[in-house]
Amino acid sequence: MTTLSLLTPSGRLTLGNLLGALRPMAARTADAFYGISDLHAMTTAHDPALLRARTQEMQALLLAAGLEQATLFRQSDVPAHTGLTYLLECTAYTGELNRMIQFKEKGRGRESTRASLYTYPVLMAADILLYRPRHVPVGDDQRQHVELARDLATRFNRTYGEVFTVPEISTPRAGARVMDLADPTRKMSKSVEGPGTILLLDPPDVVRRKVARAVTDSDTGPGAVRPDRETKPGVTNLLDVLAACGGSADGITTYGELKREVSDAVVAVLEPVQKRYTDLAADPAHVASVYEDGAARARKVTEPVLAT
Ligand code: AMP
Repeated sequence: MTTLSLLTPSGRLTLGNLLGALRPMAARTADAFYGISDLHAMTTAHDPALLRARTQEMQALLLAAGLEQATLFRQSDVPAHTGLTYLLECTAYTGELNRMIQFKEKGRGRESTRASLYTYPVLMAADILLYRPRHVPVGDDQRQHVELARDLATRFNRTYGEVFTVPEISTPRAGARVMDLADPTRKMSKSVEGPGTILLLDPPDVVRRKVARAVTDSDTGPGAVRPDRETKPGVTNLLDVLAACGGSADGITTYGELKREVSDAVVAVLEPVQKRYTDLAADPAHVASVYEDGAARARKVTEPVLAT
């Protein structure tokens, strides 16, 4: 069964992306299409040169993170994504696009909001429907968009004949959820490059400094190092990161020790990825050819759908 996942190069990949997305993706590469959704990154203000650089970095990082067995492609290299978007725009109603929460929160009513931010859920529907997946694992923030994709598939099929599989929405496998080190009540995010965000390419001394400054709490004494999401979000996050990076908090009683242990574990997880990244970055022709081959495979799968 086809697995599909797209990552938007709207920032630089973080430890959260690695533990919450890339690792589960690397565990499932057979019949998997993993794409870099560079077109999605164009729906908000962006610097073209920076977007190109972010996309190239992400291309090499996905390989460095162990996804080479999957079909890797850039969305903009597969024209069926934008081709189908127009047909689905002819199927979608402005009423339903007006109800999209992300558009309401991020763009509605502002003069300089790009038209593509409004139609972005339709591009996302095209991204999904082209690969005819039977299930789409999706978190709460994207659920409404996948429901739209289902509605559009059903309406399109009714009007033009059975073309699309209407995908079921499934709950994603619980990957690690990494919170921001400086504000552990919100998710570590690639769109916030602050002191609480560990980037995959942060050198060890930067990782250690960010972890050393992570927010904890004022508890002391033997029982301080314990998880409690409500009252100790910072410590809980450090314990989660430690466990996800293969470390153990057994015998640790102080926050200083905990942070050293977390730093060591994170550095050990990042090191091989960074080493592979350095080798790949030195061979851009190889990286480009992997993505050209992947795009050719993605075109082969998606063009017949568009031609139907
Ligand atoms: P985003 O960076 O929000 O575009 O998300 C890309 C993928 O990484 C999605 O599968 C997210 O669920 C995952 N992801 C992003 N940030 C985190 C985080 N802090 N912890 C765990 N998973 C994350």
